Amino acid sequence: MKFSKLAVFIEKIEQTSSRLSITHLLAELFQKLSTGEFDKTIYLLQGRVTPLFEPTEFGMGEKNVIRGVVVALHLERKFFEQEYKKIGDLGLTVEHFKKQFSSFEEKDLSIQEVYKDLVDLAKKQGTGSQESKTNILAHLLRQLDPLSSRYLVRIILGVLRLGFSDMTVLDAYSWMLKKDKSLRPLIEKAYHVRPDLGFIGAVLREKGEKGLSNIHPTVFTPILMMRAERLSSGAEIVEKIGASAIEPKYDGFRLQVHYKKGEPARLYSRNLEEVSFMYPDVVEGIKKNIKAREIIIEGEAIGYDIKRDRLLPFQQTVQRKRKYEIEAKAKEIPLKFFVFELLYKDGSDYINKPFSERRKKLAKSIRTKNDIAKDTVFVANETITDNPQEIEKIFADALAEGLEGIIAKRLDGVYQPGARASNWIKLKKSYSSKIEDTIDCVVFGYDFGKGKRTGFGIGAFLVGLFDDKRDKYATIAKIGTGLTDEEWRELRKRCDKFKSNKKPTAYEVDKQMEVDVWVNPSIVVEIQADEITRSSVHTAGRTLKASKSGSAFEVDTSGYALRFPRLVRFREDKKPNDATTLQELKNMFQAQKG
Ligand code: AMP
Repeated sequence: MKFSKLAVFIEKIEQTSSRLSITHLLAELFQKLSTGEFDKTIYLLQGRVTPLFEPTEFGMGEKNVIRGVVVALHLERKFFEQEYKKIGDLGLTVEHFKKQFSSFEEKDLSIQEVYKDLVDLAKKQGTGSQESKTNILAHLLRQLDPLSSRYLVRIILGVLRLGFSDMTVLDAYSWMLKKDKSLRPLIEKAYHVRPDLGFIGAVLREKGEKGLSNIHPTVFTPILMMRAERLSSGAEIVEKIGASAIEPKYDGFRLQVHYKKGEPARLYSRNLEEVSFMYPDVVEGIKKNIKAREIIIEGEAIGYDIKRDRLLPFQQTVQRKRKYEIEAKAKEIPLKFFVFELLYKDGSDYINKPFSERRKKLAKSIRTKNDIAKDTVFVANETITDNPQEIEKIFADALAEGLEGIIAKRLDGVYQPGARASNWIKLKKSYSSKIEDTIDCVVFGYDFGKGKRTGFGIGAFLVGLFDDKRDKYATIAKIGTGLTDEEWRELRKRCDKFKSNKKPTAYEVDKQMEVDVWVNPSIVVEIQADEITRSSVHTAGRTLKASKSGSAFEVDTSGYALRFPRLVRFREDKKPNDATTLQELKNMFQAQKG
């Protein structure tokens, strides 16, 4: 397919807000793609040239993109920037100038040709690379038509934002094959094991539904991580899953480790980002302590206090999450890695094996003397029991040691990639509030605010939840107090990075809760509150009905809201669709004490 044809599809998608219509458009596009161009097109639609978990970036800022444009179109930079100021969007500005420019180099390039140049552009690194990147961009721009140029620039700047999620693409795969969404559950299951939209799509395009049965874990493609359900006592745990393995809930970073003998291990965070460079001590520990040719394991890395010989609280462990002075910090706060899962080893897929079997094999795959001061990699502690009192005692001991709580694991439970499921149950410290747990919210935007904080340019921020059933976000609180000056500044900085000039289509917000500045769904914050209440101005769980006159809508059931919400921390490790879901909030509301 020609890139110009893809651009026409992208424009149609951009102009569509209904999720179903976008799904149909995508399915129509996918049907027209050949196997060879399938994955490449998918990555381009995601604004990339590789799957999301591969850290390939284009590495071009706005300044250099503008340089490429003015070189390509022989424009005066100042003149271009004046127009850009008026139009307000770089992609549209480039399109505007392209319309007035014709070149003997113009060519109807194929998707694969554009893709190849973009890969070259992304690969250029080091001295002189900006110059080479600018040249590749300029060359492409001279060849492409105006609409294609609009999207090329947006892809390179990482601002394509077509407003559909990976889940919509999975739906579209089902529509591509079946003309309905019946295949989506099966496709989604495969995607959780291999979250590479391009790969899954290409397999489906080539082999159809049959291709799904051959999708297994692969070293260096991270697997979507399993999550735990919550319960509030040992008795509830025993009632739900019977005898289980009780493990401490370590409060550090979850890491999935992929290792192939002879190569350095790669570490992935919860949101599947590769973070190996941050934790050289864990990479080294894996090399020393793993007994396997190939393996995928998961665990929690937690800071260690050398002087006091104990594990550190999260607030200190988090200092290891940094881009600079990594080695020095690693000496000061070494990490200890507690492994609790084996997902793959030497050609065998363990995902669907019972937990007890995975654990046994895991213990055999790690060489450790269990010397906390000297080793780095350990197998997580476990106690097998079906006695509620014993569970409560282990829980109390864990808290006394400064840990977060415990996780109970069903002995015959499989590993469920990407799912929050009752094969794992967490029991966490309860706070003075009526709610047992914190809530992970997505930041929708902020108000400028009055008084003292006008200095920071932010006075309150609006947060909400993910409604996974409908692929929408709904609000639960506007927070205007409880942050330190430092946190306000930090929040403002993060928000401005993801600013949107209009309300993102996935947000459902009541008129009274609208904000001065909208932020695309990107920032996840952990919020503590005293109580979940009901409110007509928040949209989470709210339903509307036609008013008596029939000319408008009024609130039928009130939404959920938070009482005394406060920021606990930024959750960089979570993506917006990992935020607490509406269903989970409903469960928390029902479980609320009193
Ligand atoms: P959640 O992700 O909210 O379901 O909470 C479970 C989290 O606890 C996991 O993501 C891990 O980061 C963390 N964790 C700490 N210790 C363990 C353990 N022994 N087993 C599983 N998860 C653990």
